[in-house]
Amino acid sequence: MQGKIVKGIAGFYYVHVVEFGIYECKAKGIFRKEKQKPLVGDDVEIDIISEEEKTGNIVEILPRKNELIRPAVANVDQALVVFAITKPKPHFNLLDRFLVMMESKELPVILCFNKQDIAEESEIEELRSIYEGCGYPVIFTSAREEENIDQVLEALKGKTTAVAGPSGVGKSSLINRLQSGIRMETGAISSKIDRGKHTTRHSELIAINEDSYIMDTPGFSSLYTNDFEKEELKYYFPEFTPYEGTCRYNGCDHVHEPGCAVKEALEQGKIHEVRYQNYLEMYKELKEKRRY
Ligand code: GDP
Ligand code: ZN
Repeated sequence: MQGKIVKGIAGFYYVHVVEFGIYECKAKGIFRKEKQKPLVGDDVEIDIISEEEKTGNIVEILPRKNELIRPAVANVDQALVVFAITKPKPHFNLLDRFLVMMESKELPVILCFNKQDIAEESEIEELRSIYEGCGYPVIFTSAREEENIDQVLEALKGKTTAVAGPSGVGKSSLINRLQSGIRMETGAISSKIDRGKHTTRHSELIAINEDSYIMDTPGFSSLYTNDFEKEELKYYFPEFTPYEGTCRYNGCDHVHEPGCAVKEALEQGKIHEVRYQNYLEMYKELKEKRRY
């Protein structure tokens, strides 16, 4: 049978098989010989040892689409970045850092702004204009009033999605809403996994319906140490792309070079001031980092 590793604890792997549930599996020796370690997110082939006890052996790891290091997880298709529209108002610098990080990992991003129920229309429109203007899909939700949860579910359909965002924005409330359809099954997972409770926190996938998984990523916030050169940063601002190659200087970094098409677009209001300022700030940091 084929399934997906949703959690790994102390040599055990918990493999979710659609319509059958979770099997507690061990990885057989062949992996150790080939130095291949199963990861959460891996699609695997398992042999059932006991259907009754829901145990099995992992006999094959299917080819990985990608692999993140921190958190260690395979086959993440996209990221859902959650912020609140208000209470707290989005920390734009942090938000843009998240976005740059996802771009640098080539992870498509869906932006979710929560707490629509207490937001002003003008606040919503501002966020929409900034981030839809960069080409990101933007969804406004209320986890509390259960608004637009269906739009989020639609965006997650058939994918494995890393959910990231600062605390207080309603991420847990939203995740609860997303998994309400399969409460019972996740209940079963946790009872099986409970004995590993006191081990350190590992990444874990939550099945939200038969072919969609989400991963809550508390560790993602420690990730915005970016390990690329300042010259690369511009490629992680998708709204700069139309102007690439049209500046006066080849290899323009859009900082203080004359004849810069990005700065011209900024002056014409085609690129948002907040985004550009965050670009400059991150650029400066990357530049300073190199001196050490
Ligand atoms: P997390 O820290 O991001 O996981 O956020 P929580 O889900 O714990 O929510 C933080 C606070 O925001 C709690 O007091 C929630 O009741 C509240 N909250 C969450 N979602 C909404 C929402 O859609 N609207 C409003 N008004 N409050 C919300
Ligand atoms: Zn330029």
